[in-house]
Amino acid sequence: MSKRILVTGGAGFLGSHLCERLLADGHEVLCVDNFFTGTKRNVAHLMGNSHFEVMRHDVTFPLYVEVDQIYNLACPASPVHYQHDPVQTLKTSVHGAINMLGLAKRVGATILQASTSEVYGDPEEHPQTESYWGKVNPIGIRSCYDEGKRCAETLFFDYHRQHGVDIKVVRIFNTYGPRMHPDDGRVVSNFIVQALRGEDITLYGDGMQTRSFCFVSDLIEGLVAMMNSPAGITGPINLGNPIELTMVQLAQEVIRLTGSRSQLKHMPLPQDDPKQRRPAISLASTQLNWAPRVDVEQGLAQTISYFKQLFAKDV
Ligand code: NAD
Ligand code: UDP
Ligand code: UDP
Repeated sequence: MSKRILVTGGAGFLGSHLCERLLADGHEVLCVDNFFTGTKRNVAHLMGNSHFEVMRHDVTFPLYVEVDQIYNLACPASPVHYQHDPVQTLKTSVHGAINMLGLAKRVGATILQASTSEVYGDPEEHPQTESYWGKVNPIGIRSCYDEGKRCAETLFFDYHRQHGVDIKVVRIFNTYGPRMHPDDGRVVSNFIVQALRGEDITLYGDGMQTRSFCFVSDLIEGLVAMMNSPAGITGPINLGNPIELTMVQLAQEVIRLTGSRSQLKHMPLPQDDPKQRRPAISLASTQLNWAPRVDVEQGLAQTISYFKQLFAKDV
């Protein structure tokens, strides 16, 4: 059945793919975004669809609309961008969650929170299961994001317990793909852009820290499966691809797939950069019947071809 669905952060990387998917499924989609890191260009191809609407709005302010489902994705995700205005990042996670939960409560909507593997901080448990409470610095440069997302999770579970709001919380691990901003600052887009331009590949620290990279189409499947799961399923549920790479391995793979002559250049490791990260995904598998399908080679190849086309247009 067709639903009215609100996607906050809908003009961002993940949000734009989600809007596209929900429209393809026959829903009415309201994309709310303040265009801090997202762009109208990401959703320009959807503008002609009469079931699609874009609203410029900052979720730290109240929003009165009538919808059946809310995907709360509004929040800058790249460390470079979320550290640019850390107070606004916290407000977005905390005030944004309060406003969207207030909205969900008023209209009886199901609400999904795009939480993050960052709630685990620099983890002492590996891989990270949902029952692990994390190791997070409350006062460091990443805290505005990590603690904001942790507080948002608290708000979701308190609105659920106190007001009976139907909540879904997913913890997203590093996700990449087409439509990442070339200046996004996250590692996959940085490495690909540098490789395509023949610039040095900037490895922070010794490059032995690990991440596990999920391709965007897999992640979107997981978000939709979680939103439409039975009411008893609240999460938190990890969504990510458990194949773990060091940043050196990622750089080598990008160089191989682009055929670039770029050299590796070591730069200082940012403060509190987590050393290792890999999701345990058995909960997503049993509760959502979800598993990632796109391997890193295929996903990187698609992302590289997206950036090649983007740069060809700019010339
Ligand atoms: P993104 O930066 O491309 O998208 C975020 C969107 O939110 C942008 O369009 C931005 O303009 C919008 N936004 C920011 N502050 C806002 C505000 N106050 N009001 C309205 N809109 C606002 O990042 P993304 O990768 O698409 O991430 C989307 C969500 O998923 C974020 O909440 C992020 O924390 C979460 N997440 C992403 C990843 C990942 O690897 N991509 C990992 C974990 C969690
Ligand atoms: N809110 C909103 N849209 C709505 C309903 C509420 O943006 O449709 C905001 C409202 O500004 C409020 C917040 O959500 O501050 C929390 O709402 P709740 O009903 O939980 O609390 P209260 O209104 O009592 O502060
Ligand atoms: N990183 C890097 N070079 C870059 C950007 C990031 O080596 O140009 C590293 C960063 O230090 C981190 C990892 O890549 O260890 C992932 O960084 P990203 O900003 O993508 O996301 P994070 O998982 O740290 O939030």
